[in-house]
Amino acid sequence: MSDCYELLIIGGGPAGLTAAIYAARAGLRFALVELDGWGGGQISAALQVNNYPGLPGITGAELGERIRQQALDLGTEIHCGQVSRITKENGIFSVETEEGETFQAKAVITALGASPAKLGVPGEEKAGVSYCAVCDGEFYAGKPVAVIGGGDAGVEDALYLSNICPQVTMLLRRDVFRAAQSRVKLLEERSNVTILRKTQAVELQGEGRVTGIRTVSQGTEGAFSCQGVFIAVGTLPATECLAGFPGLLDENGYVLAGESGETAIPGLFAAGDAREKPLRQITTAVADGANAATSAAAYLQNLLTEE
Ligand code: NAP
Repeated sequence: MSDCYELLIIGGGPAGLTAAIYAARAGLRFALVELDGWGGGQISAALQVNNYPGLPGITGAELGERIRQQALDLGTEIHCGQVSRITKENGIFSVETEEGETFQAKAVITALGASPAKLGVPGEEKAGVSYCAVCDGEFYAGKPVAVIGGGDAGVEDALYLSNICPQVTMLLRRDVFRAAQSRVKLLEERSNVTILRKTQAVELQGEGRVTGIRTVSQGTEGAFSCQGVFIAVGTLPATECLAGFPGLLDENGYVLAGESGETAIPGLFAAGDAREKPLRQITTAVADGANAATSAAAYLQNLLTEE
């Protein structure tokens, strides 16, 4: 059990680290708890970030590391741990980790991020299925692969794989992409990319390892061979540790909080991809972190005035 902090920030992605930068500059006594001890969150896996203002083309890993270094230089105390439960009693939050530690604070910012959603078809658990082309793509260099999902993540995965694989088959369940049109255009121009529209994967085939995909397209069954399948069908918020607060999460598990980061629980703030909002980007994550830390500082100031 640690001393009681003024503020605990949970999450070491852009939202959490930006909250730390703002908390440090506001002079708060705070600490940050993150999962893996090297920071960056989901962006660590982005090969190239082209829409972060001022730093076009930077790798996700470098951007994450730079934000983390900035937070550390300002004195951020970072603890590693997987937060399993957050509770509030007598105005104090307790944050428990899987590793058995408990931290206490008067205010908490959750910047819990999100993880890849599963496709939910038979065969998804076998070898050859990945949720991150930048992480695993090199294992499939020279082999035919498939990408499922037409959002930004799917298109970026397909573009990346089309540079190292002879054939990339892209499956869209609708006839249109959800991703940025400029990137879709680039993908459509790649001669080794085949786009199957209005096509659902219904089974990932193969004994132990993927050898192909069984599909249904407008009522017609089909199949094609591939040696790797990259699934990019959206993300799920990592908000299980907040389950103890009734009414805090929406039906999909995202934290209900406005732009200020304030939730229905006084002293509990939310930032980043796990917050219910229309656009999940690094830019909106860092904006969330700044807003949540500023709101938390105001909340703590009010507590002092009341005491
Ligand atoms: P997303 O935007 O939600 O796209 C998910 C895609 O998967 C959609 O095309 C969706 O189809 C499809 N899909 C969902 N469930 C499916 C199923 N069961 N079977 C087949 N297809 C399915 O998710 P995302 O691409 O992970 O992006 C998440 C957020 O991160 C977005 O805000 C995105 O802009 C951002 N992001 C940005 C970048 C970047 O470089 N700027 C990179 C990655 C992600 P429908 O369109 O039919 O729903």
